[in-house]
Amino acid sequence: MKANPSPDLLRVLWDSGITHYDVASIAEVRLVRSVLPEAVLCFMHPVKTASAIAEAYRDHGVRTFSLDSQEELEKIVVATADDAGNTVEDLALCVRLRVSSDYSELSLAAKFGIDLADAAPLLQATRQVADSLGICFHVGSQAMTPFAYVQAMERVRAAIVDASVTVDIIDVGGGFPSIYPGMEPPPLEDYFSVIHRAAESLPISYSSELWCEPGRALCAEYNSLVVRVERRRGNELYINDGAYGALFDAAHLGWRFPVRCLSDGRGEAEEGFAFYGPTCDDADFMEGPFHLPADIQAGDFIEIGMLGAYGAAMRTAFNGFGQGEVFSVSDEPMSSLYRGDRADPRKTDNVVSLR
Ligand SMILES: *Cc1c(COP(=O)(O)O)cnc(C)c1O
Repeated sequence: MKANPSPDLLRVLWDSGITHYDVASIAEVRLVRSVLPEAVLCFMHPVKTASAIAEAYRDHGVRTFSLDSQEELEKIVVATADDAGNTVEDLALCVRLRVSSDYSELSLAAKFGIDLADAAPLLQATRQVADSLGICFHVGSQAMTPFAYVQAMERVRAAIVDASVTVDIIDVGGGFPSIYPGMEPPPLEDYFSVIHRAAESLPISYSSELWCEPGRALCAEYNSLVVRVERRRGNELYINDGAYGALFDAAHLGWRFPVRCLSDGRGEAEEGFAFYGPTCDDADFMEGPFHLPADIQAGDFIEIGMLGAYGAAMRTAFNGFGQGEVFSVSDEPMSSLYRGDRADPRKTDNVVSLR
């Protein structure tokens, strides 16, 4: 949900066979429930409020929760207890293990996850109250090599052996990459085969389930953003969206997204441009370089592609900007991990170096 909470996308995913949704807040629980009444919701934020857990369990049928501490386990048990105060018997509880983010562009290693050294008592305590016990992790977003999952699965193995518990669910989390200029990961099939091989060698029963929580890989291709050039100053273009809009990652992580000029009559020659967003903040700057026609000028429109993950989701109205219009279109995304763009040299022309 966090990568793109668009109700239209939720319906597309549901129609494509996605039945389970990873939610992190009560607002996400309510939203998915209102759009997809039959979806299975998994509340995978390891630090929840008691009232959110109770509402999710009672009013929205949520049975799967994650945790990474004894306190959170107690909170879940108390918040879901029946009227007589008894522990319920239908919880699927996933203990989040801390794993390395070394192979990902965006770390998720610092904030959540119990260290392997401390995991055994928590796994054993969770086993006592859970109908299904899971182990989950997140290797960080935009994992550029399947090896990230190999390392994480080794840690899962060690945790299971240390705790000597029966595990019903292995949840390898998100982190599956998409394709951006300068970041061209191996095919997703390589990730899947590595994960399957690692899962098969874990000390778990044949009936245990293997889950994943892809965010970016499912929705990066879903949105493009069309912006207007308000001013040109040398090779800097002032555009009407930016760091506080859908271009957070272009500004704060220096990611380059694919771009193309949509206005007619521009020449073939291209140059690298940086973008300024519309707010009055100097940090509203996207260094790029974004390769666009050398004669681009104020009034021209630019399509910025691959913003379906963490683009629209992060827009704010800071400084009075950020309103946009949404159009549904049926053309292909500007690049795709699902149709072999990696073999298309035109798509790699703009690659400079991995930042
Ligand atoms: C953000 C997040 C995801 C999705 O991560 P991607 O890198 O977009 O695939 C999955 N699970 C959890 C718990 C997350 O916080």
